Amino acid sequence: MNFWETEQLANDLMRHFGMLELGWKFRWSNGKRTLGSASWKRSRLSPGVQIPNHLNMSGYLVQLNGADEVYVPLDEQEPGHKPGHIEDTIRHEIAHMIAGHAAGHGPVWKATAIRCGADPRRCADESVKMPKAPYEIVCTCCDKVIGKRHKRVRLGGKFHPKCGKKSVGQLVLRYAA
Ligand SMILES: [Zn+2]
Ligand SMILES: [Zn+2]
Repeated sequence: MNFWETEQLANDLMRHFGMLELGWKFRWSNGKRTLGSASWKRSRLSPGVQIPNHLNMSGYLVQLNGADEVYVPLDEQEPGHKPGHIEDTIRHEIAHMIAGHAAGHGPVWKATAIRCGADPRRCADESVKMPKAPYEIVCTCCDKVIGKRHKRVRLGGKFHPKCGKKSVGQLVLRYAA
């Protein structure tokens, strides 16, 4: 599934479930941690009212996961069609649009997810390929990697509990990707 196919399928599914008419729009995001999300905007006139805004799909993670997924256009999907990760995420997010922000991943959302053809058990899917955290925190007292981070972090004052206070100032950040 490439970018064009992802956007096509997302728009077809949003149209199918009536979401385009409600004002939902597809948008590529720069996020690297979540494959997809639905975002609302707040109404200026009536605070507390959530207005449909975007289905955000991570270009980075679609590229990372796309090769594993065959694109089946919506009008060619047969009964028993099993969505891959990207399609499941699109259906999952449409269920959020229908169930509303406040429903979270609760029972109303779960029932909606089933109607939308999304796997209701999959809220944070471990089998979606995520980028590796490129930074490793290494304790130079024991030479062990004691943590991984997505961003550079300050290590001043931190220590490795196993090595104790003698490891204060002995932790280094190493770029491992
Ligand atoms: Zn969700
Ligand atoms: Zn240590």
